Amino acid sequence: MADTMTLESDELTPMGGVEPDAAWADEVRRLAEERNAVLLAHNYQLPEIQEIADHTGDSLALSRLAAASDASTIVFCGVHFMAETAKILSPDKTVLIPDARAGCSLADSITGTQLREWKAAHPGAVVVSYVNTTAEVKAETDICCTSSNAVDVVASVPADREVLFCPDQFLGAHVKRKTGRENLHIWAGECHVHAGINGPELAERAASDPDADLFIHPECGCATSALYLAGEGAVPAEKVKILSTGDMVRAARDTRASSVLVATEVGMLHQLRKAAPEIDFRAVNERASCRYMKMITPAALLRSLRVGADEVHVDEVTAERARASVRRMIEIGTPGGGE
Ligand code: SF4
Repeated sequence: MADTMTLESDELTPMGGVEPDAAWADEVRRLAEERNAVLLAHNYQLPEIQEIADHTGDSLALSRLAAASDASTIVFCGVHFMAETAKILSPDKTVLIPDARAGCSLADSITGTQLREWKAAHPGAVVVSYVNTTAEVKAETDICCTSSNAVDVVASVPADREVLFCPDQFLGAHVKRKTGRENLHIWAGECHVHAGINGPELAERAASDPDADLFIHPECGCATSALYLAGEGAVPAEKVKILSTGDMVRAARDTRASSVLVATEVGMLHQLRKAAPEIDFRAVNERASCRYMKMITPAALLRSLRVGADEVHVDEVTAERARASVRRMIEIGTPGGGE
């Protein structure tokens, strides 16, 4: 392990200087054991971080695993709202994120204050929020949702009640189309990575590989286009699969296609190739890489375990209200996976 770690850095430059070699892996495992820590990695993490983790998966599945674990410390290799969600579900555990600067442009697209103002303009409306939100926004939310269950959650709200859906406009459009609900208001938030995966690019890739399955995350700007293309007969409807990241791994094991085009963050390809090595998985947009996710570097993980940083805190009142919105989602049915 070449350990010339650069700890502090400007703005969003990831911490560097550590090679993810066998010595690094041994040291990470030793420190994790010493801290009684479980290491969790989101599907969009760097391959070496996914490989060293105890569990990989989507954000909600990981938070639930963390709550069920005997470990006293959770090291969440993902972005900040995910670590917050783990803390909300495991208030008595120490939750660490290797680099607290790892934010999320989608979670940042609505603040608690903005949501309170939106609610004030629609008294009586039910607020449904995707899990990519801060603890403060979850605390203002009636029911949380994931990309797998967003349609069921919105459908569970009585037809005469207005629904405020935030923060993702593409997931919101998908839900509106599925439920046919006119009284669903959608916040105009988006993830810069997913919004960059667009319809024309998808159409071009699909045309050049007509036998490929299309795995599409509903936050992608192309989700609407994919369904439109299917409706037009440009791609067979059965080839288009709108899936959360957790569901993508399950679908990879089940598909009979020999190639799959994947429309989401490129880190996803690592788990898909592991799940089905015989399938040719290709990104619809190879530039769709989340810089926040990639801030969890080997150096950042090592530092986190050495010094017990960066610890995630959520005040108890906020956590209690946020937990209630997550619980309501779980009561409605299988929560499936988040991003
Ligand atoms: S890919 Fe987008 S939604 Fe996911 S963490 Fe990055 S910025 Fe947030």
